[in-house]
Amino acid sequence: MGENSWKDPSIFIDKIYVEESCIDLPYTREILSRANLPYTLVPDRGKPNDLDKDYVNNLTAGKRQLFLCNNRGHFFKPCPGTRDYQCCDYQVLNTGMNCPMDCVYCILQAYLNAPWLTFYVNYQKLFKELDDSLHTDSRRFFRIGTGEFTDSLAIDRLTGLSRMLVNYIGKQENAVLELKTKSGVVGNLAGLEHNGRTIVAWSLNSPIIMKKEEIRSATLDERLAAARYCAKLGYKLAFHFDPIIDHPCWKEGYTETIERLFQEIPAESIVWISLGALRFIPSLKEIGIQRFPHSRIYYQEFIEGLDNKARYFRPNRVKLYTFIYDLFRTKISEKTCVYFCMESDEIWEEVMGFAPGEKGGIPSMLDKAAKMEYLK
Ligand code: SF4
Repeated sequence: MGENSWKDPSIFIDKIYVEESCIDLPYTREILSRANLPYTLVPDRGKPNDLDKDYVNNLTAGKRQLFLCNNRGHFFKPCPGTRDYQCCDYQVLNTGMNCPMDCVYCILQAYLNAPWLTFYVNYQKLFKELDDSLHTDSRRFFRIGTGEFTDSLAIDRLTGLSRMLVNYIGKQENAVLELKTKSGVVGNLAGLEHNGRTIVAWSLNSPIIMKKEEIRSATLDERLAAARYCAKLGYKLAFHFDPIIDHPCWKEGYTETIERLFQEIPAESIVWISLGALRFIPSLKEIGIQRFPHSRIYYQEFIEGLDNKARYFRPNRVKLYTFIYDLFRTKISEKTCVYFCMESDEIWEEVMGFAPGEKGGIPSMLDKAAKMEYLK
């Protein structure tokens, strides 16, 4: 890995904090020994330091610090979709908070109130909660993701959590796990009994957006090389074009990414591809402009949606989606499900020619895709 590579963004971390009651856990010891960084103990239920007092201004400094602690709340929660847009019915596995990368549009900047990265080391509780849900409701099919409040693999070199999760899900009849990342950290995924039940997913964008607006993320080449490696290990893959951003030369940018994607990755290994145009809550815009004064992404015309998020005007969204969807149409496998994240039936019909309800709804489409039973 070259000096300028952020294939593994965990190298940005330079300090660890450990909640006192976690210090003697074998898992904590494992992480500390892999990280080989200085650490400080924090009283139970305490916080590492006062960086949170100037939250947002201290976010960059906080992203260098990893706090290993107990999760006293729930690890496993349903997707917080909205009533007004078609939702994918995803189950969220909350393994920690925040991430060492720094995307200009990252919603966590507005959601979190502490700048550190948090990782929960009491994983026995996590697996107990999974057991309780999966085994109690054995007729239901669960699509589980860990990328809601963090990136699924960004600190996996230190935590090795992916190995436990993939082996666990490999034994479940009624669940798949999606590990979603902008890193190239896939070293822990070799030699596991994944049984086709883990989907490794990358967020992709036009190369200039990846470079300028996704700070400390892996390059397109690094993400695709990692994805190719996972395909060789027999994993199913997914790709998320989210947020799609209207920027100068966006057509060329998205064309390049999509062409490179299909040069590198066997189309049959892709179970789903999501499309979602940039959207944000008003407070995120203020934070984004303050933290990234050079970024232009918030200086466009937006309209407020039914969920109070700003979005591009509908004709602009349709223009972006139609162009990108047309690039996919000829290249994707029959079994790949392309879907919109948080869009209305009208947008589906205008761009794809059908509403999700005609195919049983998005959750059912994705369930079928996960089982390789989807036909476009
Ligand atoms: S990689 Fe994901 S979690 Fe990390 S900063 Fe970017 S959007 Fe946020």
